[in-house]
Amino acid sequence: MNKPITNHMPTAELQALDAAHHFHPFTDKAGLAAKGARVITRGEGVWLTDSEGQRIIDGMAGLWCVNIGYGRKEMGRVAARQMDELAYYNTFFQTTHVPAIALAAKIAELAPEGLNHVFFAGSGSEANDTNIRLVRRYWQVKGQPERDVIISRWNGYHGSTMGGGSLGGMKPIHAHGGKIAGIEHIDQPYWWGEGSDMSEDDFGLARAQQLEAKILELGPEKVAAFIGEPIQGAGGVIIPPATYWPEIQRICDKYGILLIADEVITGFGRTGNWFGSTTFGIKPHIITIAKGLSSGYAPIGGSIICDEVAEVVGSAGEFFHGYTYSGHPVAAAVALENLRIMQEEGVVEHVRDVAHPHLKAQWDKLAEHPLVGEAKLVGLMGSIVLTPNKAKRAKFASEEGTVGLRCRERCFANNLIMRHVGDRMIIAPPLVITTDEIDILMDRARKSLDECYQGLLDDGLMVEKAD
Ligand SMILES: *Cc1c(COP(=O)(O)O)cnc(C)c1O
Repeated sequence: MNKPITNHMPTAELQALDAAHHFHPFTDKAGLAAKGARVITRGEGVWLTDSEGQRIIDGMAGLWCVNIGYGRKEMGRVAARQMDELAYYNTFFQTTHVPAIALAAKIAELAPEGLNHVFFAGSGSEANDTNIRLVRRYWQVKGQPERDVIISRWNGYHGSTMGGGSLGGMKPIHAHGGKIAGIEHIDQPYWWGEGSDMSEDDFGLARAQQLEAKILELGPEKVAAFIGEPIQGAGGVIIPPATYWPEIQRICDKYGILLIADEVITGFGRTGNWFGSTTFGIKPHIITIAKGLSSGYAPIGGSIICDEVAEVVGSAGEFFHGYTYSGHPVAAAVALENLRIMQEEGVVEHVRDVAHPHLKAQWDKLAEHPLVGEAKLVGLMGSIVLTPNKAKRAKFASEEGTVGLRCRERCFANNLIMRHVGDRMIIAPPLVITTDEIDILMDRARKSLDECYQGLLDDGLMVEKAD
């Protein structure tokens, strides 16, 4: 093909080429070919433009990552400068370079106390694969190689590689390609959907105590680590009851198992602190990072490792693990520039003191909408659940996700990106969103909910699932 592919090609041509040659992640190929993908051509701040010239407010920060917003010119300049200076060198075999050094030191400065060592990866999935090998290696060096099981939660998300997908608790992912050995799952702390008639606090405790039951079932001498997201993101922004994390912490401490906080979403300001572990009072041995580390401007992830684990694994010769792009200089320089912007512009403080309170005042009120059950928000990470009967916390009679998808389509039509997970609607806008932009986002969200509700009434779908 001689013609260059540009933003100025007709949308239908772009869509046809896309459907013919681009095999998309997490997308139904036939459905995409029939409908055509929405083509995004530009981004600025919290705004996206598509190939039809529509301006869309991005309530999801891309995939939870564009925390400083789109189109920051400094980022491109830093990337170009780094490519001129040193486009690539590796960090294997006793070599290093300035961007990787500077970024590791900056992350150690921002991370909770005692977490001072960074192993770089190219993504969150890769970082979690690193974590599997790292915790198993840790127990080997400690003379307890039989400790190799990692406990995780159903409906958790830890990525899409074999390791990340296995750690995650999403059965449709396990069904496509299987699950590696040595990963066990316990139930999630999802009170609205699974709490039956327990109080939220009792339910949070009960779900955390499943960890202790699982450790005892497997034998404590077999368990290497527990991994969890402080707030489950891809699972539907499930914010655990206040009792949950303290009990998980108590159990990990009691049995001496390593605690991994997967902060790929909650890291770097999303919850109003630099790390969600601070927000929830968690003391992890390892924190998984990616997404907001570079605000999505370059692919980079990593594991922030506590002193003890780094010392043990580092005391026994080489750790046979690493990626060609571990600490990639351009990605590292871009991430460092992102963190500079976040610090100098007070982005975390903006989330905590300005954006969160402004959004929360409106978000909480959504619970009064006839279609909405609970509405929850921590920092700039929020969810609502759609229900035909909020008093009973009822599900819809229609297949799960039908109503969520209808709602998302209303959002799309109103130029708002809000995602659905089943019949939950979720948001995670760029952290730099202004109060005026929050008002626009909320106007569009309310309009979309009203339209969705009216459509359900018209189509006779406000019907509860029989118990
Ligand atoms: C997105 C995500 C991952 C995977 O990150 P990738 O960069 O897509 O590999 C892992 N854990 C959590 C909590 C995530 O949200």
